[in-house]
Amino acid sequence: MFSTMQDGHLSIARILQQGSEPHGVSAEVVTWTGDGARRTSYAAVGRRAAQLAHALRGLGVTGDQRVGTFMWNNSEHLEAYFAVPSMGAVLHTLNIRLFPDQLVYVANHAEDEVVLVDSTLLPLFQKLLPELATVRHVIVVGADGAALEAPAGVEVHGYEELLAEQPDEFDWPELDERSAAAMCYTSGTTANPKGVVYSHRSVYLHSMQVCMTDGMALSQADRSLAVVPMFHAMSWGLPYAAFMVGASLIMPDRFLRPEPLVRMIAAERPTMAAAVPTIWQGVLQHLATNAEDVSSLREVVVGGAACPPSLMKAFEENYGISVLHAWGMTETSPLGSVARAPVGVSGEQRWTYRASQGRLPTGVQGRLVGEGDVVLPWDGASVGELQVRGPWVAKAYYGEDDPEKFHEGWLRTGDVGYITPDGFVQLTDRAKDVIKSGGEWISSVDLENKVMGHPAVAEAMVIGVPDEKWSERPLVAVVLRDGQQVAAAELREFLADSVAKWQLPEYWTFIPEAPKTSVGKFDKKRLRQQHAEGRLNITHVQ
Ligand code: AMP
Repeated sequence: MFSTMQDGHLSIARILQQGSEPHGVSAEVVTWTGDGARRTSYAAVGRRAAQLAHALRGLGVTGDQRVGTFMWNNSEHLEAYFAVPSMGAVLHTLNIRLFPDQLVYVANHAEDEVVLVDSTLLPLFQKLLPELATVRHVIVVGADGAALEAPAGVEVHGYEELLAEQPDEFDWPELDERSAAAMCYTSGTTANPKGVVYSHRSVYLHSMQVCMTDGMALSQADRSLAVVPMFHAMSWGLPYAAFMVGASLIMPDRFLRPEPLVRMIAAERPTMAAAVPTIWQGVLQHLATNAEDVSSLREVVVGGAACPPSLMKAFEENYGISVLHAWGMTETSPLGSVARAPVGVSGEQRWTYRASQGRLPTGVQGRLVGEGDVVLPWDGASVGELQVRGPWVAKAYYGEDDPEKFHEGWLRTGDVGYITPDGFVQLTDRAKDVIKSGGEWISSVDLENKVMGHPAVAEAMVIGVPDEKWSERPLVAVVLRDGQQVAAAELREFLADSVAKWQLPEYWTFIPEAPKTSVGKFDKKRLRQQHAEGRLNITHVQ
């Protein structure tokens, strides 16, 4: 027997309607300009999204053609976020920080036909353009694009000129909820980047999860600051979730350094914000020497890489801001688990829960798999690979078979850890980063977190380096806080209280800056390369 319930398709157009009509006046998008802000209402975003859709139709965008964006987080990018999928085309957010050959690869692989480009990024884009085989139109946002040299067959348009005169209502088509809405490529540290294609249904369900109280708890009362780039796993779902509930959005555009970020927070008073740990480390360092008012923030979401407990504690104890640790992947839309401590726990136990990767929600089912494909118990001790499945988890990469990654209907995350009986995931490492020393495993993340607990340390990265006796030993690369000095021996001593003796690192190096990936995570591949090329000055302490 089927139900008697209605069966409308879930769609981004419906999210746009909710944001731009009931919340159209009360919610705003603020785009930072460096010394001030541009503001627009959600109603205006809705009107301009309609104009953009008409303009794209005028350029011949029909069906599921791909429209790329090469943009910072700003209100125009948001307009594309809604216009492109709602008209039935597919939004492809290009990661502006990928290497040029990777960018060319992804734009060609996705067969982008139109690309929207921020005028400040034109010099970068200009270098790619001759290699983009399928691009027919470039739309320049923020200037008229006269500066761009286009190859034959490519037309260049100014965004505002293109939107002017277009009707500000669009008859959004009824789409199958399983059809493609947006695509994002994973950063791909070794092989080529892989494309994940989100559907209208997955975006809609994921947005609901972002808003749930035990998710990111986004509501109409929030002013949400999306520091995480709109090209990094759809800005973790914030733009769509914000429109769903009418939370305002604050967009930093290209002003991502701690100083302007903090100034923007003081001026625009966000209540929540989301970014990778390295951004928050920078903000914390800045706040240590610059008194700015960040008291509007009730919660900041930290994910994309393990959040050091020292960072969580510093925010909470010094600024009264709660840090919410979350885990996810481009392949999981990205929100997977969120670490809210269970009710009733306090003291150190509460921190243990909050420092974990958290509980998976109903929509993301998880299992732990050990060697020989054995499914392991959730006993807080058995260590294996986390595998997940659910309605906002990818089942394949775009145009590529990867049976290694997608296995029996589960996504193999490549993340290793254990799960407690009450369902909290504690990741100890990426499978490829675990250090195997004398047949035993050492968690690089655990060592990093502990070293970053030292007051003189700003950032710490740990990689395994070859060792004749133990096969691998940890090497710690330390970035000191401004004006601080500390010897490797002292740091090793500092770890002695909390790290087993055989795990204590003997190889240390001090580096001016931690190498970072295109989305701001520690880039261990580059550190390994620097080590292999003998470019690190290593201190040996025992
Ligand atoms: P990406 O798709 O580029 O965002 O990368 C996803 C990967 O980032 C995951 O598979 C994890 O290895 C890592 N990651 C994301 N969030 C966390 C977290 N909270 N703790 C540890 N690792 C994380």
